Amino acid sequence: MLVQSAGALMPFAHVKAGSPARKRKAASGGTARRMEGELRAQNERFSAAVENMSHGLCMFDADERMIICNGNYIDIFCLDSAVVRPGTSFFDILQHSVDIGIASQSAEELYAIRKPYIDGAKPSTYEENLSDGRIIVISHRPLASGGWVSIYEDVTEQRRAERDLKEQHRRFDAALANMSQGLLMYDADGKMIVRNERFLQLCGVSEADFPLGMTQKEALEKLVDGGVYVGLDIDAEVAQTNASLDAGHFRSTYRQLIDGRTLLVVRRPMAGGGWVATFDDVTERRRAEARMTHLAHHDALTNLPNRSMFRERLDQALADPGIAPLAIISLDLDRFKSVNDTFGHPAGDWLLKCVAEQLQRCLRKERDVVARFGGDEFVIVQFDIQGPDDAEKLAKRIANAIAKPFRHKNRDIHVGVSLGIALFPRDGRDAETLLKNADMALYRAKSEGRNLFRFFEPSMDEMLRARRALEVDIELALPRREFDLDYQPIMNIASGEIVGVEALMRWQSPTRGAVTPDTFIPVAEETGLILPLGEWALRKACAAAATWPPDMRIAVNVSAMQIRNDGFARSVISALAFSGVPAQRLELEITETVLMDESDRVLRMLNQLRGLGIHIALDDFGIGYSSLGYLRRFPVDKIKIDRSFIRDIGNRDTAAIVRAVIGLGAQLGITVTAEGVETEAQLDLLRREGCVEAQGYLIGIPVKAGQIRRQLVAGVARSQTG
Ligand code: C2E
Ligand code: MG
Ligand code: MG
Repeated sequence: MLVQSAGALMPFAHVKAGSPARKRKAASGGTARRMEGELRAQNERFSAAVENMSHGLCMFDADERMIICNGNYIDIFCLDSAVVRPGTSFFDILQHSVDIGIASQSAEELYAIRKPYIDGAKPSTYEENLSDGRIIVISHRPLASGGWVSIYEDVTEQRRAERDLKEQHRRFDAALANMSQGLLMYDADGKMIVRNERFLQLCGVSEADFPLGMTQKEALEKLVDGGVYVGLDIDAEVAQTNASLDAGHFRSTYRQLIDGRTLLVVRRPMAGGGWVATFDDVTERRRAEARMTHLAHHDALTNLPNRSMFRERLDQALADPGIAPLAIISLDLDRFKSVNDTFGHPAGDWLLKCVAEQLQRCLRKERDVVARFGGDEFVIVQFDIQGPDDAEKLAKRIANAIAKPFRHKNRDIHVGVSLGIALFPRDGRDAETLLKNADMALYRAKSEGRNLFRFFEPSMDEMLRARRALEVDIELALPRREFDLDYQPIMNIASGEIVGVEALMRWQSPTRGAVTPDTFIPVAEETGLILPLGEWALRKACAAAATWPPDMRIAVNVSAMQIRNDGFARSVISALAFSGVPAQRLELEITETVLMDESDRVLRMLNQLRGLGIHIALDDFGIGYSSLGYLRRFPVDKIKIDRSFIRDIGNRDTAAIVRAVIGLGAQLGITVTAEGVETEAQLDLLRREGCVEAQGYLIGIPVKAGQIRRQLVAGVARSQTG
């Protein structure tokens, strides 16, 4: 829409051109018509140009009346084109804009503001804010004829964009300054265009060292020369950068700083070319990661490799086709549990650490590995052995080292070690088999007595299977009532009277026949079945004793494991209560290991039972450690000399030992019983030496409950009649 006067109001250029044209028209009709046509065409072109310009335009004459304006002008100020027409005064237009509410000041004020600009008293261009928030740039040009032309541009959007951009810059700067990462940005020409403060801080360099515009090569040179980076091939780095840019992706890298810190450098190409690099101080994280991997592969207590790391090393070695023979040595400590029980867990932990150190010292080759698999279980891989001898030497070295006492807080802790050895390739070609076979050899070493080493033999596999089958059968035997007790009399040598009876467990298996206690008791101890089995024996023996003549003592064997169990004292008292047998008639036969290994808690409990009147007998005396110190630790009521001494009593040395024990018993007021007396000669000898009691086939073999009862009743009757 072009607003102009009806009679083809001339734009300022035409006003002048118009007059002579009219004169010429009068002179020559044809020329005049042609010129008029030309003029009209020119006018139309002008009008079109004004109308199509992107700015608002308004022209005023010397009397401040509007000559012409375009649609944009009307639109910008939301004017009414019926009011704002050619001839309308400048002031009226201002008043109109006030009337319609677009102006933010009064017409007078507006006039006063604009006039100095129009008159050239102020710069020709200025900004005006409309009441609706828009911003209009207005510029005025004076016309030669005395009026002026004003151009209006709505710059609201442009200003907002500028403001947004500025805000964006501000935020970007703030973000850059506050980033925990260092940041560098290079443009498509490889020149540094952004660098934040944190980068300078991380690298300990100054802003002056790192002027914007430098290349990556120059930057790296600065860092290497300044001693920040170590061991960096700058040319290779730059080549790598170019290759990565070509490929469109970078790989992150770790940079080692000379002061020990590690920076993680991550680079990303930018859409318009160039790249951004961020720098992160990952020193702590890397250390933590290293600690984590160490923890995942090591035992926390001893710091030895753990099972998973051991397997990794072994698998790795076995995967090498050129591998030399090696040995797997499986070992575990003897009596470790009692160390824990006696001295407490901190002492146990301390001991494990000492053992770990000893084991490491025993290894000769750098490559050999000792790992802790858990508890007191360690495994060694000994590489490059010439033959079994090498493994044997190592095993002996270890056994000797561990056999020496460990001194802890002014006391000596004694443990031993059992070892099982499997050889590659003889005993297996994969880790699984080798470890299993070494374990089997260890198992054998343990069952043959402690502080031993054994090589794996194929028959062990067979034996282990047989052993597992035995475990299963024993487990089933108790609910199937396959166990029973036999009773063997014990005689007072001086009077020849039967004073007590020992209960001995029997197992009649439907498939195996009679199985001796020496076979099934150790297995029951290991599987834990001895707890219910032992309790059953205690009750059954007491129940039998209840039917015997009064004062007849009943001796029951108890395993160390039963005594260690918290409920032991309760089950003893309950067996007595159920049977009605007085405590004085019950004798518990324990072995030396109980006194040797057990904690104060166990000794207190035994003393408590003794306080009730129950007798405690030390069974199989002489075959174990036979340290008399144990007798001081716990005053037993009876010592039973093991039958192997009685068998060999004809031997002078053996006789001397038996004599000494009998003498010791007499001095300490402890009853001494000789086990396994089979001949009159043995009994005579024992009698001469003053032994108090005897037990053995000569006096009576173990028999069933009914039979012992008959014997005892008859015996009492005999002594009463005799
Ligand atoms: P022990 O307590 O020393 O029992 C004595 C063993 O010597 C018994 O063997 C008995 O049969 C045997 N014996 C008795 N007199 C003679 C003899 O004159 N000559 C010979 N050569 N042997 C004789 P048994 O019954 O085979 O028991 C073996 C071991 O099993 C027992 O040795 C004991 O340690 C254990 N045991 C037996 N019953 C039980 C039980 O109920 N509980 C526990 N924990 N262990 C038991
Ligand atoms: Mg016994
Ligand atoms: Mg015995």
